[in-house]
Amino acid sequence: MLENEGFEKKEFDSQADVYVINTCSVTDNADKECRQLVRRIQRRSPESLVVITGCYAQLKPKEIAEIPGVDLVLGAAEKFNLPLHLKELSKGDSAKICSCDIDEVNGFHSSYSINDRTRTFLKVQDGCDYNCSFCTIPMARGKSRSDSIENVLSNVREVVANGSKEIVLTGVNLGDFGKGPNGDKEDAESFFELVQALEKMEGVERYRISSIEPNLLTNSIIEFVANSNKFMPHFHIPLQSGSNKILGLMRRRYKRELYAERVGLIKKLMPHCAIGVDVIVGFPGETEEDFNETFNFLHSLDISYLHVFTYSERANTKALDIKPVVPINTRHERNKKLRNLSYMKMQYFTQQHEGQTRKVLFEGHEKGGMMEGYTDNYIKVTVPHKAEWVNQVISWKL
Ligand code: SF4
Repeated sequence: MLENEGFEKKEFDSQADVYVINTCSVTDNADKECRQLVRRIQRRSPESLVVITGCYAQLKPKEIAEIPGVDLVLGAAEKFNLPLHLKELSKGDSAKICSCDIDEVNGFHSSYSINDRTRTFLKVQDGCDYNCSFCTIPMARGKSRSDSIENVLSNVREVVANGSKEIVLTGVNLGDFGKGPNGDKEDAESFFELVQALEKMEGVERYRISSIEPNLLTNSIIEFVANSNKFMPHFHIPLQSGSNKILGLMRRRYKRELYAERVGLIKKLMPHCAIGVDVIVGFPGETEEDFNETFNFLHSLDISYLHVFTYSERANTKALDIKPVVPINTRHERNKKLRNLSYMKMQYFTQQHEGQTRKVLFEGHEKGGMMEGYTDNYIKVTVPHKAEWVNQVISWKL
């Protein structure tokens, strides 16, 4: 949007007229990080405008506006009007806040990443109607809204014209795709219909589905991916806990049995498929026994890697009422145990494919004379840099 208004993108650490900090509410210490960045900007360029946007800006606009050096705070809806706000903004003493109540946020703004020509992240859905007891995302992003299939296809055409070979479909609750731009069209379209339409698009080599809730990853979607040449054999499915007691306290919409069924079907149809798992440790009420249940469950599942998150308290969430809290050092110990398990899972998954020839899409970034790429099933491959391999799919023996 800003480039269309004549702005030129600069590295964050160089001189610029405007600095935009996009904050995250999932990250711990969003407030502290934001303060540090603003201080850095002030030292380097005291006259520049500083705009703060993103989830944390929606959740805590006043706190952010009080940070010395901030000129504008934009909430979830207003961030899309950034060019307009900049026209009216001048360096002043106090920050302007443009944010509305999250319940009033409507409409869908599609976007895709353009930094890396090899892989493009395409946003097709935003917001979430679930109410997991630990999560602030629905308060920061609003209700579940989606692009239309027609618009997604048109974005895909643009992405392909830019030369990108792989498109990663993203959303806050991706599997809930289809409720329309205002979130009021219950099941107008569906994620399954979206993937079917995408499969028919000419010119796309690869799609990946980013993260999808286990209850929304239906058997039809799994079977479809198993028979597709374009959707890569790779799923990322949040589990969060392997204990049904904790899943209930978290207000997740499935039990561990359903999760195991999904993994079982995926591996039956695609034994080579990569499966990534999100898991939270140290959720309130998680006893040693509950944690061991999670550990043993993950150990028994045929999965490839874990993303382990240590639970941390978030304002205005239901989880704050759940007792007893888990001591911080116990949370960290559990995190370490699961990270070790993840390392072993990843090693095992990679070893299983040793000697196989798989298709690797190589990326442009060169580091120490080497280049990287990923196989269809998300195994990272590092080879000496060859310019002619950049953004090409190459058959490679692992
Ligand atoms: S489904 Fe995901 S985004 Fe939605 S409330 Fe639960 S954790 Fe948050």
